[in-house]
Amino acid sequence: MKHLFKILKFTKELWPYYLIGSVTSILIAILGLILPLLSGAAIDQIRLGTEGDLSLVVWLAVGIFALDLGTTLISNVGGYFGDQMAIKLKRSLSNRYYQHLLQLPQSYFDSELSGKIIARLNRSINQIGNFMQTMSNNFLQFIFSTVFSLIVIAFFSWQVAVLLFALYPIFIYLTVRSSSTWQDYQQQKNTAQDIASGRFGEAINQMKVLKSYVQEKRELKFFDSHLSTMEKLNRPQSRFWHLEDVKRRLVLNLIFLGVYLFIFIQGVQGQLTAGQAVTLILYAMQIRIPIFTISFLVDNTQRAIADSKDYFEVMDQPKREEPPIKHQKLRVRHGAISFKNVSFSYENSQNSVLNSFNLNIPAKKTIALVGESGEGKTTVTNLLMRLYLPQSGEILIDDQNILELPLHELRRNIGVVFQESALFSGTIKENIGYSRPNASLEDIKAAAKAANADEFISEFKEGYKSQIGERGLKLSGGQKQRIAIARALLKDAPILILDEATSSLDSKSEQLVQEALERLMHDRTTIIIAHRLSTIQNVDLIVTLKDGQVDEIGSPAELAKTEGIYAALLQLQNQPTSKKQLKAYEIEA
Ligand code: ADP
Ligand code: MG
Repeated sequence: MKHLFKILKFTKELWPYYLIGSVTSILIAILGLILPLLSGAAIDQIRLGTEGDLSLVVWLAVGIFALDLGTTLISNVGGYFGDQMAIKLKRSLSNRYYQHLLQLPQSYFDSELSGKIIARLNRSINQIGNFMQTMSNNFLQFIFSTVFSLIVIAFFSWQVAVLLFALYPIFIYLTVRSSSTWQDYQQQKNTAQDIASGRFGEAINQMKVLKSYVQEKRELKFFDSHLSTMEKLNRPQSRFWHLEDVKRRLVLNLIFLGVYLFIFIQGVQGQLTAGQAVTLILYAMQIRIPIFTISFLVDNTQRAIADSKDYFEVMDQPKREEPPIKHQKLRVRHGAISFKNVSFSYENSQNSVLNSFNLNIPAKKTIALVGESGEGKTTVTNLLMRLYLPQSGEILIDDQNILELPLHELRRNIGVVFQESALFSGTIKENIGYSRPNASLEDIKAAAKAANADEFISEFKEGYKSQIGERGLKLSGGQKQRIAIARALLKDAPILILDEATSSLDSKSEQLVQEALERLMHDRTTIIIAHRLSTIQNVDLIVTLKDGQVDEIGSPAELAKTEGIYAALLQLQNQPTSKKQLKAYEIEA
C-alpha cells in the first residue's frame, strides 16, 4: 500500500487532475444523494383514493431529470480529465523508470535481461495507470456517497445506519486478510512472466543463432512452460479470490437482510411513511452498489500493489555510487594514460581480474593489449571508461584522476569502436551524427570519407538519408563497422579504444576498415585489443597481460626478442599446427 502513496508523492505535479477528480466525484455523490429524497417525496404524494399535489410531482420529476443531466455532464468532464491524468501519470512514471535505468551501474545490465526490464515497465505502468484512473473515477465518489448516505440514513433511522456502518470494518477486514495470499500468487505469476519475456527478448535479438541451431521448438516450449506456470498459478489464485468474495458478499447479503427487514417492518407498523421507506431503500442501494464494486476495486488495488512492487524494485535499485566530483573539467593536453595500482574484480565474482595493475600509456601512442582470453583486456578499457569502478588504485589521464571527474566529461574524451558495431535504427546520417547531433552534413561526409564509408553510402539511392536498422537497409559487417568508425571520427576524442574492432570481418572488408582505423588512430592515444598479429606488429607498444598484471611491455621489435608471450606468439605464427594455441590469445596469424 505504501507504494501507492509513493506514486501519489511521485506524481505531485498532477495535483490539479487529482483535485478535479475529487471535486467531480464529490459533486456526483451529492447529486446522487438528492435523488432518493426527491423520489421519496414523490411517492408520498401517491395515495390510494386521494389526489396528491400534481404540480409538485411534475417538478420533482423535472428535478430528478436535472440531477441526471448534471450527473451525466459532470461525470464526463471528470472522465475527460481522468483520461488526461492517466496518460500523464504513465508518461511521468515511464520517464522516471527510464531515467533511473540510465543511471544504474553497468553491473545491473550485466545480470538483467532486457526483455524483463521492458516487461516490468509495461505491466507496472499499465496497471498503475488503470488503477489511478478507476480510483479517481470511482473511489472518491464511493467514499463520499457512502459517508453522505450514512449521515442521511442516520437522520431517518440510526438503527439502519449502524447496521450499514458495521459492513465496512467487516468488509475491509475480510479484504485485507485475503490480500497477501492473493498478492503472493500475483508475484509468482509476474516472475514467471518476466522470465518468459526476458527469454523472448533474447530470442528475438538472436534470431539467427536460434534458427541456425534449429531451436524453435525448444524456445517455444521454454516460453510456454512459463506461461503454463502462470496459468497453473491462476487457478488457485482465482479460486481463492472467488471463495473470499463469496464470504464477503455473504456478510453483505446478511446485513442487507437485516436492513430490509427493519425498513419493511417499520413501514408496515406505520413508523415510516412509504416515501421514507423508499428513500431509505434507495440510500441503502446506493451503498450497496459501491460495496459490490468494491470487489472490483479491491482486485484492481491488489493488482496495482503487486505490480507497482516490480516498478519500485527497479526504482529502488541503488544508482551507481559515484565518487565525489573534485574537478569539473578534464583537460586533455596530450592524452597520456596511467593505471596506478589498480585492483578490480566484478561485483558478482570472487576472482580479481586486475591485481595492483600498473601501466603507463604515453600520449598519442598506439598500444596493443595482448593476453589470453579472459585475462582482462576488455576490463582495462571498461575501467578507463569508468563503466565499473576499481576497488582500489587510480587511473589518470594527463595526471588527472578520472574518478574525480564528472562522467560525461570523461566519456566525452574517449572514442570507442567495439567488435559488434551496434547501430541504431534511423538514417545513416543520424547514426554517424550520434556522437555529435548538431554536426553538419559536410562534417558527417568528411568523417564517412575518412572511414572509407562515403563510397558505399553514396551508392544507396537515398545516400546519407537511407534508413538502416529494423525497417531499412541491411548493411554488411564491414559497412556497419565503417559507419561506427565514422561515428568515432566525428566525435574526435583524444583517446581511442578499439576492442576487437576488426575481428568479425572478412579479410577484404577488413582492409578497408583497417585503413579507416589508421586514420582514426592518427594523433590519438589508442588502446587496441587486436586479433591479428599483423595489426599488433604495427603498434608503438605491446603490453602483455598475465594474472591481472602487466607481464611485459615494449615495442614489437623489443618484445620479439624476449621469451615472453609475444615472442611465443610470433613463433607459433610460423608453425601451421599452432592455430589452436594462437586462438587462446584471441589472435589469428
Ligand atoms: P578479455 O577481454 O581479456 O577476454 P575480460 O576483460 O572480458 O577478458 O574478462 C576478464 C575476466 O572477467 C573474465 O574472467 C571474465 O569472465 C570476467 N568478466 C568479464 N565481464 C564480466 C562481468 N560483466 N561480470 C562478471 N565477470 C566478468
Ligand atoms: Mg575482450
